[in-house]
Amino acid sequence: MIKFTKSAITELEEEYVLDVLRNGSLSGDGKYTPLVYKQFEELFGIKNMLLTTSCTTALEMASILIDLKNDDEVIVPSFTFSSTANAFLLRGAKPIFCDIRKDTMNIDETLIESLITDKTKAIYTVDYAGVSCEYDAINRIAEKHGLFVIEDAAQAVGAYYNDIPCGTLTTLGCYSFHETKNYVMGEGGAIVFNSDKFIERAEIIREKGTNRRQVIQGLVDKYTWHDIGSSFLPSDLLSALLYAQMLRFDEIMSKRVNVWNTYHNILKPFEDSGKLRCPIVPNNCKHNGHMYNIILPNSDVRAKLIDEMKKKEVICYICYVPLHSSPMGRKLGYSPDACPVTEDYGERVLRLPLYADMTTENAEYVADSICEILRNL
Ligand SMILES: *Cc1c(COP(=O)(O)O)cnc(C)c1O
Repeated sequence: MIKFTKSAITELEEEYVLDVLRNGSLSGDGKYTPLVYKQFEELFGIKNMLLTTSCTTALEMASILIDLKNDDEVIVPSFTFSSTANAFLLRGAKPIFCDIRKDTMNIDETLIESLITDKTKAIYTVDYAGVSCEYDAINRIAEKHGLFVIEDAAQAVGAYYNDIPCGTLTTLGCYSFHETKNYVMGEGGAIVFNSDKFIERAEIIREKGTNRRQVIQGLVDKYTWHDIGSSFLPSDLLSALLYAQMLRFDEIMSKRVNVWNTYHNILKPFEDSGKLRCPIVPNNCKHNGHMYNIILPNSDVRAKLIDEMKKKEVICYICYVPLHSSPMGRKLGYSPDACPVTEDYGERVLRLPLYADMTTENAEYVADSICEILRNL
């Protein structure tokens, strides 16, 4: 059986987690959390970030930090995970769904301006499949209209736009280290700051609304309640796991990209058959091997391919049910035809198994099986 995803865990991860169990403090912001920050600074030049319990909570923190309120509007792609929208719905803000580009399936920057009203406060973007959105255009629009841009870079750790790391391209960036992402801590995430503006308040929000972090930093000797907040910081056990993963950054990246390339070398030539479309990565974007997805002619072909692949012991998954046409989207009153490209692609995208320790032979078997099945459909 070829699994869909699998974390790349070695003795290094075991060693650091055991070190915390034996010697360290189990709660947040212990020995390993600053080591993770140092790794991100070395790899991406990130000066300020905070580890969180997930990308979901990082997005929630971002929504608190930009002071979203009742009736504010947020422009967001519908082709994403529920967390991107829940983050600001929890503040009372309203999603205005924007359709996606046909190539990258990222938010279509040419449609954003037509959705801006007096109530618009922010644009939430998603770097789908570890391929960046078109941030030159998006940031220009945001600046012109005085909007915040929040980057859901859950899938984009190690991806680049014009040689700038994803997660650092906007007001605030959010990463995921969930088990299914490239670098894992089981459940975890981070919020990345691209100016000093939000850091002090973010540290308080992340610590249940208290200035506890200033005690840890030795700046004050007791802490009290200063703001709203929650418990958004992860146990140092999980930071230890992530530290090992980030030390293995290049190794994990190159293994994933190798699987991605193996798929592409077999499936791209098969594109001429008209039976599938391969991922498109614009020249100014560097992907991180997070996901290999194919677009099939229609939902019937997709369903048949999933079934036939299962018979060959390969698990493939559909990606997103578009948010605007999901049960919650309907409840909020969105019409299914609000985003036609999203609606169409939502029925036709298929994700192939991809993880660092997948062998080249297995990747070849998956890609060859897809060609064989589609040839006979
Ligand atoms: C995985 C994912 C999330 C959620 O990440 P968690 O760390 O599990 O909260 C949010 N947005 C996108 C686009 C994702 O892929």
